Amino acid sequence: MTATYKICLLAGDGIGPEIIAEGVKVLNAVGAKYDTAFEYTDALIGGIAIDETGEPLPAATLDAARASDAVLLAAVGGPKWDTTDPNAPRPEQGLLGIRKELGLYTNLRPVQIFNALADASTLKPEIVDGVDMMIVRELTGGLYFGMRERFYDEDGAGPNGTKGQRAYDTLEYSEYEIERIARQAFEIARKRKNKVTSVDKANVLETSRLWREIVHRVHDEAYADVELEDLLVDNTAMQLINRPADFDVVVTENMFGDILSDEAAQITGSLGMLASASMGDGVALYEPSHGSAPDIAGQGIANPLAQILSVEMMLRYSFDMGEAADDIRRAVTQVLDEGWRTGDIKDAETPADKIVGTVAMGDLIVERL
Ligand code: NAD
Repeated sequence: MTATYKICLLAGDGIGPEIIAEGVKVLNAVGAKYDTAFEYTDALIGGIAIDETGEPLPAATLDAARASDAVLLAAVGGPKWDTTDPNAPRPEQGLLGIRKELGLYTNLRPVQIFNALADASTLKPEIVDGVDMMIVRELTGGLYFGMRERFYDEDGAGPNGTKGQRAYDTLEYSEYEIERIARQAFEIARKRKNKVTSVDKANVLETSRLWREIVHRVHDEAYADVELEDLLVDNTAMQLINRPADFDVVVTENMFGDILSDEAAQITGSLGMLASASMGDGVALYEPSHGSAPDIAGQGIANPLAQILSVEMMLRYSFDMGEAADDIRRAVTQVLDEGWRTGDIKDAETPADKIVGTVAMGDLIVERL
């Protein structure tokens, strides 16, 4: 019997509509090969949702996401919606909102080197050789979701006694939030190289001391077979560049994970190649790690591979279609080995006839599939 999966498509802004079309093309090719039907529902998020409904995350979008088996998102944002007015709607609120509403507390960011692109890294080839890590970032707690306020301090009660504007953000974590992300990290490590690096700032922050205590308790109770190391976040920032191949699973809180995953992404030298997944206990969301690239939107030159690799993750984690996911990874590797490049991943030696646009790159992947 043909399996059927419902997928909610959130194209968003900038290059979003161009790259998501290639993701759908690849899904359809996989569906034909593996006797699986994918049904799609389009919904609005980000800037385009603000333009059409006044809100970055309309209720209809949440309904469509909840009614699906997985969500495929491209990217949101652009200069049109940039504002410092704290009361104006912003495209990123759509992203933060959908993560919160769907309970997506885990963000997975794989960082892997494709051999054909090893030269794209700014690090020496011998340093990046064998890099294969998974950053597991807590996504719905911490500083980005804590209480915040901006106000005018009439009484000059601030640190230097002067009147003026003040603001604060709050960093808070509960035992429950730390425990569930720690479990996810250990489970993933067991399917990989069996090592977890837990990143915190326990020498300064109370939330980090709680983080470290809970991660160790979960480890000792249920995952003693997994190697566990603690690393302070500042040291981690250095070691990611010094010895990136030593990392397997890196688990950390929301803001540290935001920063470190972008740093780790740069190790590959090709942002247009990196996918991500956000998951909780229900429907999961898959998207490229890069933004909406407004500088190249509408030109047909965006790299669709991060979007296509996010489809790979969707097949692997939401639909348990590991074989199909491996097919996609093989197809991407093959196309790169054959020398095909989009503009962002070409180098001085790439011949002009090997540089292709968004649609042609998608076609190449489908042909190899
Ligand atoms: P960006 O990732 O959009 O672009 C950074 C640079 O990388 C640009 O030069 C862009 O052309 C290039 N690039 C990115 N993806 C590419 C691709 N697939 N193919 C070829 N080149 C690619 O980051 P930015 O410029 O800092 O942000 C642009 C907008 O995207 C902002 O509004 C930002 O808020 C938003 N943003 C959204 C997300 C998201 O939706 N998850 C993430 C980051 C930034």
